[in-house]
Amino acid sequence: MSQFDYDLFVIGAGSGGVRAARIAAGFGARVAVAEADRPGGTCVIRGCVPKKLLVYAAHFREELEDAAAYGWSADATFSWPTLIANKDREIARLEDIYRTLLKTAGVSLYEGRAFLVDPHTVEIAARRYTARHMLVATGGQPVRPDVPGAGFAITSDEAFQLAEMPRRVLIVGGGYVGVEFGGIFHGLGAQVTIAYRGEQILRGFDDDVRHHLHDELARKGLDVRLHCDSRSIERRADGSLAATIVTGGAPQQLEVDAILFATGRQPATAGLGLEASGVQLDAHGAVVVDEYSRSSVPNIHAVGDVTNRVALTPVAIREGAAVATTLFGGRRVAMDHRDVPHAVFSQPPVGTVGLSEAAAAAAYESVDVYTATFRPLKNTLSGRNERTLVKLVVDAATQRVVGAHMVGPDAPEIIQGIAIAVKAGLTKEQFDATVAVHPTAAEEFVTLRDKRAARR
Ligand SMILES: Cc1cc2nc3c(=O)[nH]c(=O)nc-3n(C[C@H](O)[C@H](O)[C@H](O)COP(=O)(O)OP(=O)(O)OC[C@H]3O[C@@H](n4cnc5c(N)ncnc54)[C@H](O)[C@@H]3O)c2cc1C
Repeated sequence: MSQFDYDLFVIGAGSGGVRAARIAAGFGARVAVAEADRPGGTCVIRGCVPKKLLVYAAHFREELEDAAAYGWSADATFSWPTLIANKDREIARLEDIYRTLLKTAGVSLYEGRAFLVDPHTVEIAARRYTARHMLVATGGQPVRPDVPGAGFAITSDEAFQLAEMPRRVLIVGGGYVGVEFGGIFHGLGAQVTIAYRGEQILRGFDDDVRHHLHDELARKGLDVRLHCDSRSIERRADGSLAATIVTGGAPQQLEVDAILFATGRQPATAGLGLEASGVQLDAHGAVVVDEYSRSSVPNIHAVGDVTNRVALTPVAIREGAAVATTLFGGRRVAMDHRDVPHAVFSQPPVGTVGLSEAAAAAAYESVDVYTATFRPLKNTLSGRNERTLVKLVVDAATQRVVGAHMVGPDAPEIIQGIAIAVKAGLTKEQFDATVAVHPTAAEEFVTLRDKRAARR
């Protein structure tokens, strides 16, 4: 008889925690998971999935506009309450699936906020449970800038639950969540301003991607302001909000119906009892882990956003699976964080894998760059003036493709396939030897000819 109630206790039933729990249980471990909110976590409840549903909704406007050139006519109106109600129904269905998956795997689910009493004891709703191994998978939460009136603004968490569709929206932040919500609200008919304090949106992405997307957003009518800081927010008597923003010179007041802070996320480690249990956190509050996701306390592991490595669902899932396999599957597995593909579900969307031109130029002595911009075939009849960007970054010495980037319709779907080639270390010659699928936008990835040296 074990001295512990469980072999593994997971705190957080999100992407990483649920996968770890299920895989560990599959290896015969006795597993429990605690969830303070709804099983499924950020991705399912207030992240990737509801966001993508709203992106689909927003894109219908352009589809309907373009349809006219293809002979269709339709009188379309949009209902925000219908969209939100349908989205909520789908999220509830997915939450149920997560509950069933845990139950079927034999994992005990405790609903409530958990914290560590010591490295082997967790407390939820005044009850204590012991486990040989602990897994912290508590994810992250949105950061709210410390400006007067910040409480009047919403974050992505609340954006999914607004009772009414705002007609004028200020988005503070130019990361992927900011540009995605900018596209959603714009597509649904709102007047959107994106205020970003940096020099270009999508910091960390390839510079051509950043500039191309900025141009496309501006062309669609989004007001993207760079070097722009928000200073304060006031609520007016009529319920509208007045934001004071500064772009270089004098402060300016912007009147809007909603302000969305998309100013980053922080690891959810507060109040978890981690430091008291000896778990080392970094300056951002993230759990410091080794390549096997093990913290400074040997029986406590951490996966997903709480470790602040690559904050994406498929990464959290793989890290969780790796921990479960290492602990109970008789095989040590480390997550490989190289060449993780990213998508931005902006309009147009972005797909990217591997190194940006700047990162490749820093890593390799000589780098070849191939780019093409073109008008997608569909836009010829509709006359839509949106252009697609396709780009490959190649290590000149080995001819290995070390980065692939795309902005344009279906970019996330296309980059998933290209990511296999980049991960496999294929060369430009092997890309060129691949026969195109015609007529597609993706075929540009195997027909790129114009070469230039990387900008340094
Ligand atoms: C708006 C938005 C859009 C996104 N879009 C994408 C996308 O398109 N693609 C993508 O790959 N990623 C996307 N992400 C990121 C993705 O959601 C996260 O990377 C992923 O959910 C991380 O999984 P996780 O297991 O680390 O944490 P989470 O999924 O956040 O799960 C953590 C869980 O722990 C629970 N919890 C926290 N503290 C406690 C406690 N003390 N006790 C019990 N339970 C606790 C929380 O309630 C939560 O359910 C998006 C995120 C946001 C916010």
